[in-house]
Amino acid sequence: MRRGPVIELPAKEAIPASVIVALLELLDQPILISDRSGRILQVNQSGIQRLGSHGFSFDPSSNLFSDLLHVHPNVISDQIEAGENQIDSKFDCCGGAALARIQWLPEADWLVVRFEDPEKQLIPGPEASGQHTVQGLLQEREITYRNLLAAYLRLQEVNRQKTVFLASAAHELKTPLAVIKGYYDLLLSGSLGKLTDKQRDILQESKESCERLVRLVSMFLNYSALESGKLVLHLRENDLRDCLSELATRWHEAFVRKHVRLDTILNADIPIFKFDYQKVQQTVANLLDNSLKHTPAGGHVIFRAEAHFWERRSTEEVQAQDRRRERVQHPNSIKVSVSDSGPGIASEHHQEIFEDFVRVDRTSSGMGLGLAIAKRLVQAHRGKIWVESELRRGSTFTFLLPIDNS
Ligand code: ADP
Repeated sequence: MRRGPVIELPAKEAIPASVIVALLELLDQPILISDRSGRILQVNQSGIQRLGSHGFSFDPSSNLFSDLLHVHPNVISDQIEAGENQIDSKFDCCGGAALARIQWLPEADWLVVRFEDPEKQLIPGPEASGQHTVQGLLQEREITYRNLLAAYLRLQEVNRQKTVFLASAAHELKTPLAVIKGYYDLLLSGSLGKLTDKQRDILQESKESCERLVRLVSMFLNYSALESGKLVLHLRENDLRDCLSELATRWHEAFVRKHVRLDTILNADIPIFKFDYQKVQQTVANLLDNSLKHTPAGGHVIFRAEAHFWERRSTEEVQAQDRRRERVQHPNSIKVSVSDSGPGIASEHHQEIFEDFVRVDRTSSGMGLGLAIAKRLVQAHRGKIWVESELRRGSTFTFLLPIDNS
């Protein structure tokens, strides 16, 4: 709010009474001035009219307390002594209650009385009610925020407990599953007796289901470890081609069984660089698992890795020409991709499939965690992962790993 200029009154010089009278007359509000005993010293025209309209005929010898407010002067005095600068006093007029707002001016030891319109007093004006409304709304909003925060913290705690519970349940499943899988291997090896083709097929299928369960359990354990902040990268100088070809060999059989062709192309230009061998294998395994799951028999998956120039956007201005030269000369990352000829993914799901527990295709098995885990692992390597896909045109999942990952 802009204030008007401050008018400096001459120090120690009494303001002439005529000036005070003139000033009071400039005010529309009914005002009366009295001393502490209630003797009326001044009243403006508007005050005389207001008192008149309430049936009080003004007389210069009237006493504010005994004639108008009907209170003992000591009552007001005591309140002033108690430190109250403004005192509200109700008085009866015209058969209803009205309000006198009494303000003490210590310098002059005067009481300035403003008379509030009884109607205005009974029905608060828009300004007052507006103030109350705003205050009320602010209070309500603060309460809502606090409640929301408390609910959020409670939910977080419940969520943490749920993850801990599921993780311990998943952990308990690990040992029996390993035992079952071991027995399948033993039976399939034929060392416990010769198997018919039918028995072999059934055992093989059971073993695959068991392996899927093992993957789900370990997927969940990985997720809960990541959730509880236990992701620790073991960065070592490794050969990515070894890491990926080992994985491709491990998955080869599953692809053959489903009659999906798997082509693995690992470029020779991939240098030795620092990465976490297990975690990269886990990332790629999740992508291969998805491609196999979603590609129908007769389909085709291409698993590829190559050196790549990753143009990170920066605020620094780099000459376009320099950038082009750098791209040709210095690959700074490895690009790994898994393309399949499956059903594809509609573009509106391209972001959300990387979130926890999001599943678009509910007909296939899974917990909606594979891509969420892959994303966390890639990001831990300071890389990035994304999908390019169109419905009925297959999908390509790609991630980049920076080579200078120290
Ligand atoms: P899930 O373990 O349930 O498969 P993911 O996080 O791996 O979970 O995948 C999330 C969702 O993304 C899946 O439910 C599926 O709808 C979709 N998706 C993932 N990979 C593919 C793919 N190769 N082809 C088609 N859809 C896919």
